[in-house]
Amino acid sequence: MEQSIGRAARDLVGSKYAIALTGAGISTESGIPDFRGPSGIWTKNPEAERRAYRGYQEFLEDPKGWWVAILTNPSASLLGDLGKAMPNPGHYALVELEKMGILKCVITQNVDALHEKAGAKNLLEYHGSVAKLRCVSCGLRFRRNEFDLEKLKRENKLPPRCPKCRGIIKTDGVFFGEPIPSDVAYQSFEEAQKCDLMLICGTSAVVYPFAELPRIAKQRSTVTIIEVNADPTPLTEEGVSDYLIQGKTGEILPRIVDEVKRVRKTD
Ligand code: NAD
Ligand code: ZN
Repeated sequence: MEQSIGRAARDLVGSKYAIALTGAGISTESGIPDFRGPSGIWTKNPEAERRAYRGYQEFLEDPKGWWVAILTNPSASLLGDLGKAMPNPGHYALVELEKMGILKCVITQNVDALHEKAGAKNLLEYHGSVAKLRCVSCGLRFRRNEFDLEKLKRENKLPPRCPKCRGIIKTDGVFFGEPIPSDVAYQSFEEAQKCDLMLICGTSAVVYPFAELPRIAKQRSTVTIIEVNADPTPLTEEGVSDYLIQGKTGEILPRIVDEVKRVRKTD
């Protein structure tokens, strides 16, 4: 472990364009369950997974009913109340690497907005964010508080409408079966093609198309791919990653940052 942390720090210091990919695992230490880890939502409740796949269809068929339902019972959301969750040392470590000029971009699958709360600047939220809303027609995003959703509900004016194109507005989080918004899909693809180091943190890398990003980077033999994860993943098993540092992101990422500082001092 000590050795691979040192190796990761040296690889990061030597990189020209490092990016990070993150998944639900980086947020479990903030009290948000993942889907497929040992205490994951799907692992414990397979029926919830089957239900989740129907969500997008339900929204398209009845956007007003969908909005009324989530405003009436917000805690019924799959991940609970994410508004109160706070970033953990793993999120802050990535921000430190960005401030040092080493990490150029974070691409996250998480919808919990914890990278943003921690201060990440160049951030692509591949599956959207609970802090935002998005127009399904023109793709424009809004902060959640730009709309008085309770008032719209009281006045029977749901679903919210886009001020620009009058399209229907939904939460920004991407539903199962919903296409990835084209802007983040395109920018993430570009980053995966541009990077020379990819640091993959807390993702089982089985949700597509996100899981293509490491494979896109791997097509160039010069790219170093490092995983920090509690367990080996398909990326480990298929040899997509060069090495795995096995353990908790909240413990390992800060240790990598300390080591990066040490390497930089002695260089
Ligand atoms: P996943 O649940 O499929 O996999 C999480 C991985 O992280 C597992 O391999 C697990 O062993 C590992 N892990 C758990 N805790 C860890 C820790 N502290 N340190 C290191 N590794 C840890 O998650 P995924 O690959 O992100 O895919 C799930 C999908 O569900 C994503 O697309 C995401 O959008 C969504 N999701 C988001 C959240 C969130 O926003 N926090 C939470 C659950 C699911
Ligand atoms: Zn619009």
